[in-house]
Amino acid sequence: MSDKRTEISDLGEFGLIEHLTKPFTMHHSSSMLGVGDDAAVIDIGGDDALVVSTDLLTEGIHFNLMYMPLKHLGYKSVAVNVSDICAMNATPTQITVSISVSNRFPLEALEELYEGIRLACDHYKVDLVGGDTSSSYSGLGISITAIGTVKKDKISYRSGAKEYDLLVVTGDLGAAYMGLQVLEREKEVFRANPNVQPELDGHDYIIERQLKPEARKDIIGFLAELDVVPTSMIDISDGLASEVLHLCKASNVGCHVYDEKIPVDAKTAMTAIDFNLDPNTCALNGGEDYELLFTIKQDDFDKIKGNPHMTVIGHITNAQDGIYYIDKNGSAITLRAQGWKHFDAE
Ligand code: ADP
Ligand code: MG
Repeated sequence: MSDKRTEISDLGEFGLIEHLTKPFTMHHSSSMLGVGDDAAVIDIGGDDALVVSTDLLTEGIHFNLMYMPLKHLGYKSVAVNVSDICAMNATPTQITVSISVSNRFPLEALEELYEGIRLACDHYKVDLVGGDTSSSYSGLGISITAIGTVKKDKISYRSGAKEYDLLVVTGDLGAAYMGLQVLEREKEVFRANPNVQPELDGHDYIIERQLKPEARKDIIGFLAELDVVPTSMIDISDGLASEVLHLCKASNVGCHVYDEKIPVDAKTAMTAIDFNLDPNTCALNGGEDYELLFTIKQDDFDKIKGNPHMTVIGHITNAQDGIYYIDKNGSAITLRAQGWKHFDAE
């Protein structure tokens, strides 16, 4: 290491990952895909591939224990990893769980955390097969690695979208972000006066979407039943805009996303308006929905048409045509991401 000092914020999260991993070369032809997708893909011989993904959740950055019960945190830590496995069109099978924990936490707290992890393992049918445990000076950290399997000819990479493909999202967007806004507001009210009870009534749906997100493993099943293999796929962890840009960049294509097509639940929209926010901006830039964004061939449209879990929000164009958001007036605006950027300067 030289005396030179470069701030990590100068590179941003993705610049940092690219900078650190660029010098590496692969030693095994079984490493079908390394850094750059929702999960790595490993050839295990025959028709099947293994997919592997890791996520790290840090107290104060990814969760706040003031309003996130530990049981929910355990559940969410598993769900976000399962989501990355699903984003490859794979079925999750095993996880390992590593924790670093300060002496602020008694055994009972960790039991609660693991109760949530166990509930998620049962729900998603994944097996806990190992992990690591360490003490920490500051708070709690949880790192989960998830493994899954997929037939090689069914893998959906971020890089497979082609011109004229349809762009599809699952479920509805922006709810987790609005849930977080309500929780943050009540936290401030509580800080000012600890005797005031939180006003969470009527916000059950969006708060649940924030505290107990579900990975769309069900979609992987539906797609198999419908005999649709997405030409590309990514999970929506950082907001729709950011994920559309990742997908288009990886596939070297452009796209049109239509404002009027973006699925936002009525409760999300009402809360957004209460907060003086545009509901679709929350869907575009809010994070942590853990829905899936994928592309399909036009020929597959009839198979998903009318499916209550899937909405066509746009189509793929040539890279030269650019990446556009078509607003309510029909004007094309260049799509930009303002999602979570952990290392960006404020
Ligand atoms: P996701 O949002 O789907 O979890 P990330 O944006 O965290 O994915 O990561 C993008 C890619 O970079 C993934 O392939 C991931 O494995 C890889 N990656 C992230 N951090 C590191 C790191 N510190 N070292 C090596 N690879 C990393
Ligand atoms: Mg992902």
